[in-house]
Amino acid sequence: MTPLRAPKQRALLFLLAAVVPLCAPRPASATIKYRVSLAHAGEHLFQVEMEIPSPAPGTQVAMPAWNALYQVRDFTYRIRSPKAVISDAANGGEQPVELRPIDKQTWEIEPLSAQLAGAKDDSRAVVSYAIQWNDPGPFNSQLNDHHAFVNFAEILMYVPNRRSEDTEVAFSDLPPGWKLLSELPAGHGAESFQAESYDALVDAPVEAGKFLSFAFDNQGAHFRVAVDATEWDKGLLEADLKRITSYELSLMGGPPYKEYTFFFHIGPYADVGGGGMEHANCTAISAASVESAAAIAAHEFFHAWNVKRIRPRALEPVDYTQEQKTRALWFAEGVTSAYASYALVRSGLWNKGHFYDDLAMQIGELEARPARQWQSVEESSLDAWLEKYDDYNTPDRSISYYNKGQLVGVLLDLSVRDATGNRKSLDDIMRQMYTEYAKAGKFYDESGGIERAVEEIADKPYGDFFHRFVSGTDAIPYGEFLGLAGLQLKLQTTNTADLGFWPQGEPGKDVTVSSLEPGSPAEIAGLHDGDVIFPSDNKSSRQDFAAWLRARSIGDRVALRVRRDGQESEISFLVGARQDRQYSIVEMPQPSDQQRRIRDGLLHGTTD
Ligand SMILES: [Zn+2]
Repeated sequence: MTPLRAPKQRALLFLLAAVVPLCAPRPASATIKYRVSLAHAGEHLFQVEMEIPSPAPGTQVAMPAWNALYQVRDFTYRIRSPKAVISDAANGGEQPVELRPIDKQTWEIEPLSAQLAGAKDDSRAVVSYAIQWNDPGPFNSQLNDHHAFVNFAEILMYVPNRRSEDTEVAFSDLPPGWKLLSELPAGHGAESFQAESYDALVDAPVEAGKFLSFAFDNQGAHFRVAVDATEWDKGLLEADLKRITSYELSLMGGPPYKEYTFFFHIGPYADVGGGGMEHANCTAISAASVESAAAIAAHEFFHAWNVKRIRPRALEPVDYTQEQKTRALWFAEGVTSAYASYALVRSGLWNKGHFYDDLAMQIGELEARPARQWQSVEESSLDAWLEKYDDYNTPDRSISYYNKGQLVGVLLDLSVRDATGNRKSLDDIMRQMYTEYAKAGKFYDESGGIERAVEEIADKPYGDFFHRFVSGTDAIPYGEFLGLAGLQLKLQTTNTADLGFWPQGEPGKDVTVSSLEPGSPAEIAGLHDGDVIFPSDNKSSRQDFAAWLRARSIGDRVALRVRRDGQESEISFLVGARQDRQYSIVEMPQPSDQQRRIRDGLLHGTTD
């Protein structure tokens, strides 16, 4: 992800800037300038020119290996024909130079002799390339005839030892009628933006196109909302955003910025690659509907505090070249999800039944994953980088730090409310960490930093809790924790028909076997993943055979013709059963006074 821009971190940068010039003088005008042409929208090619003032001998340029997702995605592979020239204004000359590959994402500009480089303030290296992107969603970049969305770290190279220098990006060749929006300050020319560093630049995406926009003010901050949608209800979106921002701003004691921008892509097309991506002063969200966009906004907006400002030390400074691991994603992401659910119920967008159902669903999700018995939520955080592999995400292999992190957040909340007679809560822990770390320009030290904040607020040791549920894999006694708020967990099991595989195929097309369960009657009868299957009588629901299969009941005999490696055979088996576990949370009819106060506190965000 992208780096912090808290005021105190800026102070740190000033400190570095004050030290650096002593050993490496640089001209006052040093601004690394980028020019991005959108002339080739139809081919999805951003044409990029990067101008590096006063390049020293040995200057390197690099393309980030990751950004926006905790996944190494090697953006280098998208680059077309990188080139470099050195220009020397004094002599009016421009000389092509080689870009020598150093590793998969770094090049050295050479030859940069002393005559051409460094010694002369007016020399410039200009690196140019095209980079192709047409991927939807907030974690990607996209250029097509409809719009452009840019995460700068996905299209712009950087100079590894000059990331802290000023930058400016100028766009050109916008199609007629397009406008630009970014949270970055305007640059010197038209259609340009500037940032104090590469890290600040890449923490603010840009939307270009014919989007609609509106604005509102809330608790001293100005909010801008850009919407690119097929169909949307402005009144509903605005009302929802006002409620969410009001609650979270009040919770955290006001805005840490003057202005914040929401970028929305809403519509059926936005469901692919949907979700939200947080930045220090903005967020980009893709969702199928206004309702789901608002629910995602409740999570992303809280990131403006939790992770962008209240930030684990292991994520700083950003290393664009390789995986950057932290044990604390359960807090950065999971507790942010807990606050999304709190924001929705406490602002009235959800009723309490919706909140209980969401919490029960999270419990069901964790309990359905056998990996909960051996992968802790800290290990799940460290292994986030494996999520790009589908097999890693199976229930046998991993748990989700979003899912268990959300549950651990609610358990901590209930436990602290109980320990303090509902005088303190998770809200106090968040505010404590905001003051102790973010406002002081510090980063917290993984789970240990969180544990200390909890102990300070609860005024009792929490080592055992963290040992059991954060670094450990103890079974969670949900009943005990929920009971503190006068709530009960109910479990209902039902038997559901289970084919033992997923029949993959659209109506009228071949149906293939996928996700075959080892040990299922279908597998024992001889079915393989990838088999093409037909009804053995050649007629039963040929038009939508996959749907017909899915509608079978427990004990039904299914007879199939199977085609594999050019051979056909017949297989039959009886449809088996699967036990579905459905959790629900209900209120105890006669809670004690403390249970009732904790329950009210949880639902309304109050303490006594
Ligand atoms: Zn998140």
